[in-house]
Amino acid sequence: MTASSDEFMQEAYSRIRASVSSNSGAPPSTLPQTAQLRRARASLPSPSHGAAYLQGWGHEATVEHLLDDIAPALNGQNRSSRYWGFVTGAVLPVAEVADNLASAYDQNVQVHLPDQTIATEVEDAALKMLLGVLHLGRAEEWAGRTFTTGATASNILGLACGREGVLSARLSATGGGQEKKTASELGILAACLHAGVREIRVLTSMGHSSLSKAASIVGLGSAAVHELPHSADEPWRIDMDAAQRELQQDGVACIIALSAGEVNTGRSATQGLEDMQRLRQMADQYGAWIHVDGAFGIFARALPETDEFSRLHQTAAGLELADSITVDGHKLLNVPYDCGVFFTRNVSVLTSVCRNPNAAYLCSEASDIQSPLNIGLENSRRFRALPAYAVLLSEGREGLADMFARMVRLARGIAEVVWDSPDYLLLPDGQAQEQQQGGGTDLGDTHICVLFRAKADSLNDVLVEAINATGSWYVSGTKWKGQKAVRVAVANWKIDVTEDLEVVRRSLAKYISGAQDS
Ligand SMILES: *Cc1c(COP(=O)(O)O)cnc(C)c1O
Repeated sequence: MTASSDEFMQEAYSRIRASVSSNSGAPPSTLPQTAQLRRARASLPSPSHGAAYLQGWGHEATVEHLLDDIAPALNGQNRSSRYWGFVTGAVLPVAEVADNLASAYDQNVQVHLPDQTIATEVEDAALKMLLGVLHLGRAEEWAGRTFTTGATASNILGLACGREGVLSARLSATGGGQEKKTASELGILAACLHAGVREIRVLTSMGHSSLSKAASIVGLGSAAVHELPHSADEPWRIDMDAAQRELQQDGVACIIALSAGEVNTGRSATQGLEDMQRLRQMADQYGAWIHVDGAFGIFARALPETDEFSRLHQTAAGLELADSITVDGHKLLNVPYDCGVFFTRNVSVLTSVCRNPNAAYLCSEASDIQSPLNIGLENSRRFRALPAYAVLLSEGREGLADMFARMVRLARGIAEVVWDSPDYLLLPDGQAQEQQQGGGTDLGDTHICVLFRAKADSLNDVLVEAINATGSWYVSGTKWKGQKAVRVAVANWKIDVTEDLEVVRRSLAKYISGAQDS
């Protein structure tokens, strides 16, 4: 690097930091203003600019443009502590530093080359630490482990492994000359034909939308996803008896895809260890695969082991009995996009799906660290493990538990504000609780998601827009039992429980008095 490019970057970084934390005293807005969006849009290069189009601006002018036009038109999902839409984590400072280091050293982490770079070993150390934080058991039990771009990519790997697992088990059972071939070699059509399988089903209960996408990508088809809701009131729970009936069908192979938790309510497909033990027993008996989509919900296992969180611990117990697990890094772990993790007990299934047939120099025999290109979707890949490694190292088990606990406390505080108001209804089961108890609500099942609606339809229709227009907090609009609802997901390390609750309380009260005034 030349001295001048070094100076350029140092100055640019400090300007970026100044712009991100612009200390006007006011909290950063969750959304840019329309004028800022308009200005940024107008500043984008266009072929209509004639000869100027694609004429190099040089790096100084480009940085000016990035800071003056583009940055102001980005949303505040990292800058604000109250951007609670989707499930959006923020970025811990140490993670951002590590991310910059990953860019500065630009490692291509695709082959395990222990004599040349420590990168794959850092990745593996991070994966092992994460297993520890999530209490998933010994690393040797999860020999298939890798960083992905996010939960969607991990769910794709989960269904691809599930497909491979359920078909290969049947292929070796049927024999007939095909026993040496795996489903990934034969392809799904031939494998099904040889194995006597006419259908592969993905059994779930309110599976995340990315599950359908994953089913489509891996060739099962999104129509293969079957919803098995426990009941109309608890649709996030999987109906165990229905699952058993599906598993018993002749000629049908099943992947059980458990939401832990469901993205609207945060509730879980299974209720704890007993449910998981029964599913495990059924899956073993009928040759099914269990995949857990634990994108954000699995972090309940990392909460402090106190009464305050005992119900969440109970619900999340047993998830370690799965064959494969999806974890998101860019949500609760507060590392930058993109970062997800995939764990499977069955590394041979994972390598059978993902092996990059290649020269021997890519193989490393004497290590339990796999070359990432043989266990994931990509070949070339970013050193996205480094920010996760930095967070795990810096916070440790206790620091992370504290961070997750604050998220849950804020979510429960918001649920309480909603519950205490006569004008809002806490979902999914506030109404049932109101009828049954007439007293306080039980928030032991509340993790980081809060779902609610306004009782007055006129307000409910515009509630999400009204909240988001404040710029001081941001929520997602969703639907619950056919009606519009507000979904809050708290996943930001910067939250201030007391202050943020006050903002929510004042804001929700204002809409009611505003509605009465008009
Ligand atoms: C967010 C989420 C996904 C999709 O994750 P990406 O990281 O956006 O790919 C999948 N499942 C669940 C439960 C989620 O919360």
